[in-house]
Amino acid sequence: MDPELRTLAENARGFMPSDEGQALYRAALAAADAVPGLPLVEIGTYCGKSTVYLGAAARSRGATVVTIDHHRGSEENQAGWEHHEPDLVDPELDVMDTLPTFRRTMFRAGLEGVVTAVVGDSPTVAQWWSTPAALVFIDGGHGEEPAATDYRCWSPVVAPGGLLAIHDVFPDPAEGGRPPFEQIYVPALESGEFTEVDSVGSLRVLRRVVPET
Ligand code: SAH
Ligand code: MG
Repeated sequence: MDPELRTLAENARGFMPSDEGQALYRAALAAADAVPGLPLVEIGTYCGKSTVYLGAAARSRGATVVTIDHHRGSEENQAGWEHHEPDLVDPELDVMDTLPTFRRTMFRAGLEGVVTAVVGDSPTVAQWWSTPAALVFIDGGHGEEPAATDYRCWSPVVAPGGLLAIHDVFPDPAEGGRPPFEQIYVPALESGEFTEVDSVGSLRVLRRVVPET
């Protein structure tokens, strides 16, 4: 990965450790190579840290990234919760707004020509979305219902041979919340439509099986 972008990603705000970011970057390269011409789709932009890894890979392959977020934060980002960052609150509305920080991240990374941001609620966007993706990275709401909904809405978007990456997968409940594991990772494997190809920290990367003809 371009060393400047790597440093920028590592210093960007967000919750993705460097080794997982690198694994995401490699997955994005592999996906763009396996299924050329299709976008890489991210559910859960936050401030764009993971988007830099995806964007760096997309740029080097002539691909594009679409990143989707309502920018109002997940439950765990709200005031009083573990992952709250008070300076990400819009002072006029007193609600979270991560869009300005995300835009700064993309500008600094020089990725504005590679990344398209969709500001909206993930299931609402899924209602009109119809483009297959080389990679779908699910890192949105981590509650049971949002995780299940993201699996239902976005796993079908992964093209045959493309990749489904899932963040914050914790098989051991002592290490973290369960929904990404229970509502996304396990159902994807049990569906028989995906096989695991990589696992780094809490990141899992699955490949959509190509149907035999
Ligand atoms: N991928 C980011 C972190 C994402 S944090 C990184 O690694 O840097 C999870 C994000 O999911 C939050 O920004 C939150 O606003 C978003 N989110 C939660 N529920 C959502 C929903 N229903 N629709 C769109 N975005 C949602
Ligand atoms: Mg995450």
